Amino acid sequence: MRIAMVSEHANPLAVLGGVDAGGQNVHVAALAAQLVRRGHEVTVFTRRDDPDVVTRLRAPAGYLVEHVTAGPPSEVPKDALWPYIGDFGRHLAVRWAYERPDVVHAHFWMSGVAAMAAAGPLGIPLIQTFHALGAVKRRHQGRSDTSPVQRIRAEERLCQQADHVIATCSDEVEELVAAGLQTDRVSVAPCGVDVRRFTPAPEPGDGRQRLVVVGRLVERKGVADVVDAMATLHGVELYVAGGPVRHALDLDPEVQRLRHRAKAAGVLERVHFMGRIGHADLPSVYAMADVVVSVPWYEPFGIVPLEAMACGRPIVGSAVGGLLDTVVPRVTGELVPPRRPDILSAALRDLLADAPRRAAYGAAGVRRVRRHYTWERVAADTEEVYGCVAADAVAPVAEAVR
Ligand code: UDP
Repeated sequence: MRIAMVSEHANPLAVLGGVDAGGQNVHVAALAAQLVRRGHEVTVFTRRDDPDVVTRLRAPAGYLVEHVTAGPPSEVPKDALWPYIGDFGRHLAVRWAYERPDVVHAHFWMSGVAAMAAAGPLGIPLIQTFHALGAVKRRHQGRSDTSPVQRIRAEERLCQQADHVIATCSDEVEELVAAGLQTDRVSVAPCGVDVRRFTPAPEPGDGRQRLVVVGRLVERKGVADVVDAMATLHGVELYVAGGPVRHALDLDPEVQRLRHRAKAAGVLERVHFMGRIGHADLPSVYAMADVVVSVPWYEPFGIVPLEAMACGRPIVGSAVGGLLDTVVPRVTGELVPPRRPDILSAALRDLLADAPRRAAYGAAGVRRVRRHYTWERVAADTEEVYGCVAADAVAPVAEAVR
């Protein structure tokens, strides 16, 4: 198949860990790479945020990346991109009119809007993955949500008009149905993990105990709750990977906020901010951990828990979103309510005191990701959706010809 992916802010070739570069970038890159391995031709359309990068380039994994000029050729926060989405869609319409893809797969709502404007009139089937939903963000973040006001309505429209929606977890399906999606047009295909990169390593065994948090440093990731929980975990160290590059940590408002919190909790000297870590270097960060902690307020999917499991690490996560599917309580880790540092610290204290349980959870996590969450498997499931949607799009034409 000729597959067009649209990922307006999340370039598959971007450096990860910044405010707007995380799971979606990983997802698009890994899915595109696997689909190429399965014999498809894949082009990822993403917004140009660098004036010097070439317009079309082939990634080492074999997919094409096309940089679309829409808005200034510089980094723009994703919530400020909406005014340029019309231009983005017009570019796609021109490109697809003479190089028609068999299916379009849009990632995130603004990509969906641009893709729908281009694919709809050309009759190209559109598959949508939201990665995150405006209604959920608004519910949790209230007035601090900086999403464009058009977001929730646009997501509802995409639920009605896209040929198919791929949700990444069961929890998201409920949200999508509430947004007007019919259940016969939704499938679940989770995110995956690169099990060749993220492999099990033994615990350091140096007598010190370490918690590791990995992720974009945004408030909803719940790092402040881990910092608070540290107050009753005497002698335990917390390592936080993500955020700006290391030398810029002191200037980062979220780091300042978290340091302030750590000082108030009396744990400042035991909380270590590592800054953004290159994706290829992350396995060694997970290897330092006795427990990986991921306690977001809400989480559309959460690739970090999968990476932790692939590295044989037990996970203490919050019982939200994708973690409800990926983490099996008392088998691969523990799930706790979000925003409850008291319950979190009790769960961590128990697990840190129980080395055999940590080892058992770690081993079970490795088995679980290898069975259910390889990108090979995710790509096969996604390909099946593409095949069905493309066949449905062709069928009415064939019938008309007969
Ligand atoms: N990540 C990274 N370096 C960092 C911080 C994060 O490579 O310093 C990666 C991390 O390994 C994971 C992704 O960013 O693959 C975050 O994805 P997740 O789904 O957990 O969260 P999201 O960013 O989508 O909210």
